[in-house]
Amino acid sequence: MKVFDLHCDTITALETVQTDLDNEFSAVNLRSAKSGNFEAYAQCFAAFLADDYRGEAAIKKWDRIYSWFERQLALYPDKIQQVRCGSDLRRIEAAGKIAAILTTESGAAFAGKLERISEVREKGCLMTSLTWNGDTELAGGVYTPEIGLTDFGKEAVKEMERVSMVVDISHMCDAAVDDFLKIAQKPFVATHSNCRSVCNAMRNLTDDYIREMVDRKGLVGINYLIYFLREGSPEQAGYEDVARHVEHFLNLGGEHIIALGSDFDGATVPESFNQVGKLGSLYDYLCSAFGAAIADKLFYNNARDFFERNL
Ligand SMILES: [Zn+2]
Repeated sequence: MKVFDLHCDTITALETVQTDLDNEFSAVNLRSAKSGNFEAYAQCFAAFLADDYRGEAAIKKWDRIYSWFERQLALYPDKIQQVRCGSDLRRIEAAGKIAAILTTESGAAFAGKLERISEVREKGCLMTSLTWNGDTELAGGVYTPEIGLTDFGKEAVKEMERVSMVVDISHMCDAAVDDFLKIAQKPFVATHSNCRSVCNAMRNLTDDYIREMVDRKGLVGINYLIYFLREGSPEQAGYEDVARHVEHFLNLGGEHIIALGSDFDGATVPESFNQVGKLGSLYDYLCSAFGAAIADKLFYNNARDFFERNL
């Protein structure tokens, strides 16, 4: 099996405790990845800025996480390599290495400066969400549902599209997504969001947004956070809840947009797949539920195709 995961918080979590990727406790780590024995493994690593980082503090924090990411690549050059464009993927994986994709969670990383977008892009950040839960200079997050896309946010979206940095709508509030849909020209992603009509959480996507993403050839990573998988009894969330979301995406025509968005190292996830090396069991479950062709699209092919088409 092959794995392509659109979102984890691992580099941010490990930078905070100054621990290298070669450890045994983080959900994404080199040893667990090896134990998964994947034919190919591409992992997006988000530089995450919580809502208390703004302005210069946000820039400094992003730079610290980026330096730590670079340090990991330098420490383990035979195991992991950064993807700088879509065509790097197959080359890195053919060499038997983890394909590492730098992303950013929260447009606070731009600190309200348009020129910062190309700077971050030049360092290899291929996707950025406009917000985390609160509002940023760009848009409102799920905790600020009354705030749409700001004037700076509109400029920023244009600039992101110009420099080929994919917009991630996960964490944005509906008002901001509505504004974004009016101006977006290029395909976009929701790196770690599920279906709101299966599990009623504001962080999950409405059916209308999912249909819009199907039409625009986007990509949605299924989040393993138990509260976004299952209502009422989240502590019981597991394989069958992932399958319920997959089924709903399929019913909306989403066969070509589904992907993985684990939220590893940033979320409480079901114990049965709480480390990257355990994903084989989830894959097996979804293979029996939907067949290998769908499971392969979800686990890898759709995301690879999106990156090759757009980056
Ligand atoms: Zn998140």
